[in-house]
Amino acid sequence: MKHVVIVGGVAGGMATAARLRRLSEETNITVVERTEYISYATCGMPYYIEGKINDRSRMFVKTPEEMSKLFRVNIKTNTEAISIDRDNKKLWVRDLKLNKEYYIDYDKLVLSTGAEPYVPDIEGVDISEVYKLRNISDMDRIKSNILESKPKKAVIVGGGFIGIEMAEALRYQGLEVSLVELDKQVMTHFDREMATFIHQNLVFNGIKLFLNNSVEKFEKDNNEIKIFLKNGEVINSDIVILSLGVRPDTSLAEKSNLETGLKKAIIVNEKMLTSDPDIYAIGDAVELKDYISQNKTLMPLAGIANRQGRVVAENIAGLEKIFKKPLGTSICKVFDMTIASTGLNEKQLKKYGYDYNKVYLHPANHAGYYPDSFPMTIKLLFENKTGKILGAQIIGNDGVDKRIDTISTAIYSKLTVYDLQDIEFAYAPPYNSVKDPVNIAGNIAVNMLNNILSSINPDELDNINKENTTIINVSEKEEHANANIENSICIPLIELRDSLSQIDKNKLIITYCQMGLRGYIAYRILKENGFNVKNLVGGFKLYKAFKEMDLLDNHQLGIQNKLEEPFCSSPTKESVKMITNLELDACGLQCPGPILKLKETLGKMNNEETVKVI
Ligand code: FAD
Repeated sequence: MKHVVIVGGVAGGMATAARLRRLSEETNITVVERTEYISYATCGMPYYIEGKINDRSRMFVKTPEEMSKLFRVNIKTNTEAISIDRDNKKLWVRDLKLNKEYYIDYDKLVLSTGAEPYVPDIEGVDISEVYKLRNISDMDRIKSNILESKPKKAVIVGGGFIGIEMAEALRYQGLEVSLVELDKQVMTHFDREMATFIHQNLVFNGIKLFLNNSVEKFEKDNNEIKIFLKNGEVINSDIVILSLGVRPDTSLAEKSNLETGLKKAIIVNEKMLTSDPDIYAIGDAVELKDYISQNKTLMPLAGIANRQGRVVAENIAGLEKIFKKPLGTSICKVFDMTIASTGLNEKQLKKYGYDYNKVYLHPANHAGYYPDSFPMTIKLLFENKTGKILGAQIIGNDGVDKRIDTISTAIYSKLTVYDLQDIEFAYAPPYNSVKDPVNIAGNIAVNMLNNILSSINPDELDNINKENTTIINVSEKEEHANANIENSICIPLIELRDSLSQIDKNKLIITYCQMGLRGYIAYRILKENGFNVKNLVGGFKLYKAFKEMDLLDNHQLGIQNKLEEPFCSSPTKESVKMITNLELDACGLQCPGPILKLKETLGKMNNEETVKVI
């Protein structure tokens, strides 16, 4: 009977064991896991800490007993794999409870050893209230601290997925939360201008951001931890969460002389075989090539580990299966915001030398007149010559997941932006608009490729010849008065056709509005009338995001809370009710609807009355 031994009993390891058992009743399967637990919901841990998941037992998909019974898998928890005798196909393990070493013979070995959090080598990193979050024990330690010590302040170090999710979790637990990030942005797989929307939402929800900064050391001072930042600032906190990214946990593979690559990740072929024909490796521990550029990369994502586990099980069972190169499609909740991305970002496209173009748009998730309609911002990247889709980033509320998954599927199906125009989406007002945001993204991209639309990006505005350019805001006068691009004039779209004679035909005209649609209509009117014209991509909303980046660039380190007072509490339904007399539902209103409705409401209000705008 074939003996398959799997090291690592969570995402990839358990996917392998379960699939293999479903394919073969014959195979002898053993899972070796260093910790006490197997088959748990790693991705759910921040939500348990937050209190969204109350019942700790819900964090376990299967207990060792259930797994043994249901799948007849021999589970060895508290057992660490310490070396591999590849010549004799023996896995040496240590029983961590009995402190006893022994070996297990294998025919095929699967390594799903995951990734370990990066812990910087700085003073004070070993203080007991400085936590990392990798497994259930880490989760329990953080949760106990919250329940027993009732901390009031937290510092998160690192603004990736785990950092953001933990910032939200601790904020919802009522803590004052500061987030320190080395880069000028959180979530570095997003482009910087898109990340500014995430920054705004974090600050809006009371997170104090310290971007472009880093921790030099931690010091325990009575019951507080002092966090010394690179720019000289010192933050006091009760607990610290380190979330500086992960590194493949491959010491076992390295010790056994398996070939490793990027950040010591295990090198595998398409079948997930390592340099040893009897050893497979999967999950966070392996090096991958991304689907679009074919460049080497790491993608520590649960879905990838699971799919790879299935591929390995099928290969061991004799079905020839390859793991298709991944896109790295991912999604994350940031309070009430959803952020998602797929494929390559613009930073990568520049680095790899792609000839690309991009569109930005802010469509609504569903029909504007149906309640709870919210805009999302989409950035779509595509190849200039072919229209091949290269990547997308979407930030919004509801409906972001559907659109990112559609674009990810489109990339896998080798569709182009031309095809995006024609994808048929189910439509009824609660779910969509007659044109889905993905259709609209395709329409804009095709307009650009067919020269029906010529655009200018916000960051290109600084380099235009100001003497020879007229920037026209085609929003309403009230919107223009509220905020506008320096030196722009306002000609509301409705008045544009009657104002053509006042516009200098010898100059380049740049049109814009709040979100982009009216700017585009104005662009077409002017183009048809013989003007040399460009439309500002993404409207004033995107322009503001770029300006925010400039603001950050022009400051020295760590001055990010310009948007709002730190630690303002998030508006809850109750708190808003207490202070407001009137309510204005601006959801889904087309521009300039919200601002005009607000103006109308303000006109009807008495002194000291307040209005809540949704
Ligand atoms: P893991 O699931 O980490 O399992 C590795 C196991 O191997 C560990 O239990 C470890 O103890 C064991 N092990 C290692 N070495 C040995 C050894 N020598 N002997 C015995 N046992 C060993 N991904 C998403 O796609 N979406 C999310 O929302 C998401 N949220 C996350 C939230 C958190 C807090 C964390 C930490 C991760 C999150 N991830 C998320 C990432 C996802 O959990 C991982 O990509 C996935 O678990 C990787 O699977 P794996 O099998 O490679 O490793």
